[in-house]
Amino acid sequence: MDICFIRNNWNYYSLATIFASIEDLDYVNPFFVNISDLKNSSFTDGTIFCFSLNSIYYNKNKDNIISIIRFLKKKGNYFFIAGGPHCQYKPDLLLEDGFDIVVVGSGEKSIRTIISDIKEKKDLKKIYQEEVTNLNDYKPFPVKFFHYKPIEITRGCPHRCYFCQTSYLHSHNPIERTIENIVKYVKIAFERNIKDFRFITPNAFSYGNSINTNSMCAIQELLSSIRSIIKDNGRIFFGTFPSEVRPDYVTTDLLIMLKKYVNNKRIIIGAQSGSDRILENSNRGHNVKTIERAIDTAIQTGFAVDVDIIIGMPDENEEDTKETFNLIHRYMKKPVRFHLHYFMPLPGTPWRDKKPATLSKKFIEEIEYLTGRGVIWGNWRNQRMAVAKEY
Ligand code: SF4
Repeated sequence: MDICFIRNNWNYYSLATIFASIEDLDYVNPFFVNISDLKNSSFTDGTIFCFSLNSIYYNKNKDNIISIIRFLKKKGNYFFIAGGPHCQYKPDLLLEDGFDIVVVGSGEKSIRTIISDIKEKKDLKKIYQEEVTNLNDYKPFPVKFFHYKPIEITRGCPHRCYFCQTSYLHSHNPIERTIENIVKYVKIAFERNIKDFRFITPNAFSYGNSINTNSMCAIQELLSSIRSIIKDNGRIFFGTFPSEVRPDYVTTDLLIMLKKYVNNKRIIIGAQSGSDRILENSNRGHNVKTIERAIDTAIQTGFAVDVDIIIGMPDENEEDTKETFNLIHRYMKKPVRFHLHYFMPLPGTPWRDKKPATLSKKFIEEIEYLTGRGVIWGNWRNQRMAVAKEY
């Protein structure tokens, strides 16, 4: 049974996770194909095509994807499955667009059921939703058909910020991969010549919260175990891309401990706004003082900092945006950069129907000035254009 995972520029981590969950089935042949190659490739009858979609990507590429599905459906008897965060809200719309099946929530368990239902020629459901309750039950990356990706150590988030899908797509009761399981896969990857180890988690400094009341102990045990395997022949990146840390989890002790084990010189702090009013409205659970304390602590312990910011939050007024720029100005002469995003209403979140606030000309000029000075970077302009089409 051929299972074709459709790659685009952003979905490799999600697809590889699902790929890993089925590679042990001896009757499947999983493989990746780039979306741009789909129309020019040939596939055996019965191939299952798996798409992982986020809303930004899907809204931009919807017409192309619908045309590809229609094109392929004329050529053979195939199945088209949609998964990923875009499927969280109104999955029926994706069925109308031509997908045969939509997976809501985590995909590992659902994909196995779907494949088995197809093999057994059972009546297929239109929507599958089977939650994963133990990350250790699934490999973090494909091992048999080796495709490496950063290891997911935590899924879900207890904080439920209103603009973010993590708590709503997965759960506000996070699940964690155990240290033993993480180390097992670090060993496997290291033996296959992988040298850089990064981790997927909504908040790296919360690791251990669900298995140990003291996160610092859990993180130290994790990092020291990995270091004892890779020694000086590999690098560990923690609290940085592709994850970040919440400001209220940053402590001097934790950062001093981190320095003993990690290779990153920079951590990423999720601040989101310089306005206390916006932080409170969005259910962040911390204020601007906490952000400043976290940045200061990181600098004092020798880390440079990237700060994640979202502008154009719902009901954000001139004063709120000004406060965010005040925060940026307070740190512009320090080893701190600000990664700017523009608010996008995401499916499944409490703010899915909220309108982004407009950004006045003077703030756009300010961003351009600060971008030129290397203080601000990010994809905010494209995000703003994408939402502008809808509002
Ligand atoms: S923004 Fe971060 S802290 Fe807030 S819900 Fe999302 S992952 Fe959790």
